[in-house]
Formats: sequence, structure tokens, C-alpha cells
Amino acid sequence: MLGPLQSVRKRDAAQPAPVLPCGIESVAKLAAGGKLAEALKFFARERRWIDEQHLTVCRIAAPTFQEQARAEWMAAQFASLGWQVATDRAGNVVAQAPGAARSGPMVALTAHLDTVLAPRTSGEIRVEGKDKFCGPGVADNGAGLAALLALAKVLGPGSGIDVSRLVLVANVGEEGEGNLSGMRYLCQNSALSGRLHTVLVLDGPDTAHVTVLALACRRFEVMVNGPGGHSWSDHGAANAVHALARAITMFCDTRADEQSRQWPCSWNFGVVEGGTTVNAIPASARVKVDLRSESASDLEELVASLGQVVERALLMENERARLGRVTFRIREIGSRPGGRLAESSPLLGYVRAVDGELCIRSVLDCASTDANIPLSMGLQSVSIGAGGQGGGAHTPGEWYSPEGRDLGLRRILLLTALLLAEVNGGLE
Ligand SMILES: [Zn+2]
Repeated sequence: MLGPLQSVRKRDAAQPAPVLPCGIESVAKLAAGGKLAEALKFFARERRWIDEQHLTVCRIAAPTFQEQARAEWMAAQFASLGWQVATDRAGNVVAQAPGAARSGPMVALTAHLDTVLAPRTSGEIRVEGKDKFCGPGVADNGAGLAALLALAKVLGPGSGIDVSRLVLVANVGEEGEGNLSGMRYLCQNSALSGRLHTVLVLDGPDTAHVTVLALACRRFEVMVNGPGGHSWSDHGAANAVHALARAITMFCDTRADEQSRQWPCSWNFGVVEGGTTVNAIPASARVKVDLRSESASDLEELVASLGQVVERALLMENERARLGRVTFRIREIGSRPGGRLAESSPLLGYVRAVDGELCIRSVLDCASTDANIPLSMGLQSVSIGAGGQGGGAHTPGEWYSPEGRDLGLRRILLLTALLLAEVNGGLE
């Protein structure tokens, strides 16, 4: 179950305990109810089907900006399970039950389609040993997509559960430079924007973390240009790679000295490119950097510091150069807004109550996920894992084990049922 709120940050210790909209008793009562009780047994019984869906979806490559084939497959699966499916202008797959409510609040259950690394062949997604799934994207976000399909099956027509206010979304653009484009469109521009009561984001494996704080993140590309030239005859000309390398080192050294910060920050120079060949002075170089902080003002300071450091590093290069000059340009390539779930929000109360009922121990955390968008807009949202275990996200060694997955899926189903009961007129 959720630890005390202090687990997010010490500063929360003085905050009042959240008002629980329902107790463990009402979750137990809900879980014991006929149709839902039957649905809760589905995940263990259909484990093999869920695993097959999981492996199949992971075998369809979907790097950010190239999610279409996987989106089409997800759309076909939703349709075969009896849902009405549409693909919106962002490329998100949106599934609603036949007869879905045309007005009023909706609960969205979402999982991102895209991955950082993609399998080059379907054989790269493999099962090792008894049931260890291996390959890019098997945990992040094969786990979330498999959960979405499991929920689509258990809540499909014939389940007898009222899902007229539920929308299932497999969205694009969460990873890399996607800049949360799918979630942004869903919450701000889609036909459902303005009707979203809660956005429950399913991302990655396990049940250990509940992301309630949206980590603000800004991303930049720094481009340096210079005169170029021959490595010997033009030696001493301003060098774009030397200047950029100095800027990166100076920035990291300066920030590493700042250990006394109240709010944690992070910086990552993730992509460096420049030059054409070994015996030519590079005429251009560029780097992409990701800056994050739990504090909006600290993030602004980091951004300002990036500009100052680059300017200083280039000044040094130009002062030393016997020939030519380097210049720079900084372009913003992504911005993820911050936000936080109110401690008194019903959603947090539901998570606590469900985790209590299922004996799940989880901690509140801060991360940059699709939930950044709804949280920044003041909507109820959390990002949670979809059960099972996994690791190595964003690396070639990514793995996922479905062992214990049904606990995560039962948790998602109970949360969904509580949220639907609320939008349908309140809990008993
Ligand atoms: Zn993810």
C-alpha cells in the first residue's frame, strides 16, 4: 500500500492526510460485487492470452514518430473485442464502448505506443527461460499496452459493467523527442478534451510507484558553427567541436558543484554530433540536452545557466583562435510542464484504498511521464505500472516477467471501477 506522503518529499510531512473518498471496506464491497468479482478472476485465468498479446504488440516496431503500424494493430485488437475505435489527428488510437456517453465526464485509461529502441526483427523480442520476455520495449511500454488490451477484453460488451464513460487510449509521442504530443492532443485538442475527469496512465511494469508529481523537463539543441579548415594548414582556427566539448564539460562541472540544492535537478547531454572527417577542422557541431527539476524556478535557472555557459565556452574558443570565429544557436526541442496531484484528490484516495485492499506497498514518486500534461492542467492523473516485473528500460537489455502481473491488472480494474462509479453519480 502507499507509504506516508512524506515518501515524496520531507516537505509534505506537515500536509494534512488526504480525505479518503472511500475506505477499504467499500473497495472490498465493490470487489465482491457479482460482475466485477467475476472480472477480477479474468486476469489469472487468461494469463496466456495476455502474454501472447504482449509479445505480439512488442514485435511491431514503434519508435517515436513511427507508431503507425503498432497503432493499426492495436486498433484492430480493440475492434475485435467489440470496441468502437477511431484514430485521432495525433495518431492516438481511441476506443470507446458502443453507446458511449456523448457528453459529460469521461475516465481515460492510457498507455503509450512508442519506444526508445525498436526491434530490427520480430525475433529480437524473445522469451528466455520459462517466461522472461527480452527485447526493446517489452517493459516500457509493452506492459502498459498489454494491460490496456486485457482491460478492453474484460470490460468489453457482454461484461455487464457500465463502461459508457470509459475511453481507452493507446497514444503516440511519449518517448524521446515526442514531447508528449499524443497526450497533449488528447487533453488539449481532441473531441474529448474538456470532458476528461481522470487520466490513468499505464506505463511500464510493477506496482511499486505511483507518480503523483510531474517532473518538469526542457530540452534543447545547441548548434555551433565555425570556419572549418585543414587540420594542419589552418590549425588554430576556431573549432566547433572543441568549443562545444568545452561547453558540455563546463556545464557539468558547474552543476556538479551545486550539491546544496533543495530540489533535485538533472542534466543529460544525450546526443553529440559534429565534424566530417579526422583531418578537417569541424565547421559545425551540435548537442541535445535534457534538463529536469522538481522546481520550476530551479529549472529556469538551469536553462539560463546553459545559455551562459555556452556563451563563455565559445568566448574562450574565439579568444584563442588565430583564425575565424565560432557562433552558436540554441533551439528548444521539447518542454514537459510540471504539476502535482492534489493530496485531497479522490484519485489518490482510491489508489490508497485499492492498494490497502490488495496489500500492495507502493510509494509516491516524481517522474516525467504522460501524466505531466493532465497534471499541469489541474486534471486528476497518476502514472502507475501495469504489474509484473521488468528492468533495463531504454536499453538493449530490457526485460519483463509477467510473474504477478494479475495483481497489477486487478488494481487497474478496481481503480477504473471506482472512477467510473464516481463519474456515474458517486459511490454508494
Ligand atoms: Zn514509458
